[in-house]
Amino acid sequence: EIVTRFAPSPTGYLHIGGARTALFNYLFAKANGGRFTLRIEDTDKARSTDDAIAAILSGMRWLGLDWDGEEIYQSARADRHAEVADALLKKGAAYRCYATPEELTEMREVAKAEKRPIRYDGRWRDRDASEAPDGAPYTVRIKAPRDGETTIDDAVQGTVVVPNSELDDFILLRSDGTPTYMLAVVVDDHDMGVTHLIRGDDHLNNAFRQKVIIDAMGWALPTWAHVPLIHGSDGAKLSKRHGALGVEAYRDMGILPEALENYLLRLGWGHGDEDIVDRQRAIEIFELGDIGRNAARFDTKKLENLNAHYLREADDARLTGIVEPIICAALGRELTETDRELLLRTIPELKPRSKNINELADGALFLFRTRPLNLDEKAAGVLEKDAGVLLGKARQALSEADEWKTEPLGDRLRTLAEAEAVGLGKVAQPLRAALTGRTQSPGVFEVLELLGREESLARIDDRLS
Ligand code: GLU
Repeated sequence: EIVTRFAPSPTGYLHIGGARTALFNYLFAKANGGRFTLRIEDTDKARSTDDAIAAILSGMRWLGLDWDGEEIYQSARADRHAEVADALLKKGAAYRCYATPEELTEMREVAKAEKRPIRYDGRWRDRDASEAPDGAPYTVRIKAPRDGETTIDDAVQGTVVVPNSELDDFILLRSDGTPTYMLAVVVDDHDMGVTHLIRGDDHLNNAFRQKVIIDAMGWALPTWAHVPLIHGSDGAKLSKRHGALGVEAYRDMGILPEALENYLLRLGWGHGDEDIVDRQRAIEIFELGDIGRNAARFDTKKLENLNAHYLREADDARLTGIVEPIICAALGRELTETDRELLLRTIPELKPRSKNINELADGALFLFRTRPLNLDEKAAGVLEKDAGVLLGKARQALSEADEWKTEPLGDRLRTLAEAEAVGLGKVAQPLRAALTGRTQSPGVFEVLELLGREESLARIDDRLS
């Protein structure tokens, strides 16, 4: 069975790079009938926070990246990590290192002075623990191979080779007995049965070290897929400066989760020239081989275009639920059942005019404003001009309608414009301003029907008096 995992360190929000990693792991598992698991790497107690854990979980839920089984907390597994370190000691694949902090500092200083990479020199590799002072603190280090080279067949990067002289005897257990990231990751991936590791290529160097532990334990190697990081539009590694934010920031900008998902998927993965790839399609066609080897650039415009697409596709009742709290916050009151029903009927009119959820919510506000409406500057301008006469005539024509529906109302206004020998816009513009307080809205005939006879005429009268 194929098992993937997303293994975030909870030191901040779920940023979009992490979300993309999670998505790739999710899709690969689902595309192969496998399991997608979640492991919170909270061993660094000083930097991990409960808020960050909550933000990661809620970001994943918002994106619909549901993980199989309970999430695993790495900090709860420290005993198991120590057990494996112990097993490595017993096999002679690891050793106790009694080098003092002063010795290690000196090693670093000398390396720096000689402009060599900083690397532990292995001074306890072949010494016996009996040579150390009684009760002296020690770390447990892996005995890394020194000759030859290590090769990794990466599903994205291809075959990558490093000379073993570049691997040092890194620490598995610190002197306080806590495991390092390097040990914990390998043990947890093994115990969770992880078969495929898809993660950022900033971890490629770690893979060579992790392989040393895996080999020493005689465990099966996972398939690695190291994905190039996301870059900003200027080509530099994506950072906060580029607006690389947590996924909830995109939600607050009015982005739909399926739009962000499609965008993140296409960022660094491609299948022919398909741009619109929804979840279902992605599960059909996702392959590791389609992940690009070059860093992808974040492009806000593309995200916005995808968002507009998914907004048009989205179910009206669902959108009503999403915009309701935004509308309530703007109005400072709750919506009634009648309001909600009106909102639901208005959504189809607003969808094609909105690029995001916030525009959608904003476009619906006119429905619920109390009279007399506040006019925005442009609407006030429209009504200031000589529009009063035509608005009065429009009111007259509308009030005589026996059916308050889009089409007959439209016919009446068209007839009026013809009789007055003006374009329809001359009639529609002041009407729109009076009805919505703005110069942009759904079609005026639709607005009339949505507001209903009484409210429409009252709003017009507010401008005529
Ligand atoms: N916890 C690591 C991180 O957030 C990822 C570990 C891994 O994927 O192996 O960068």
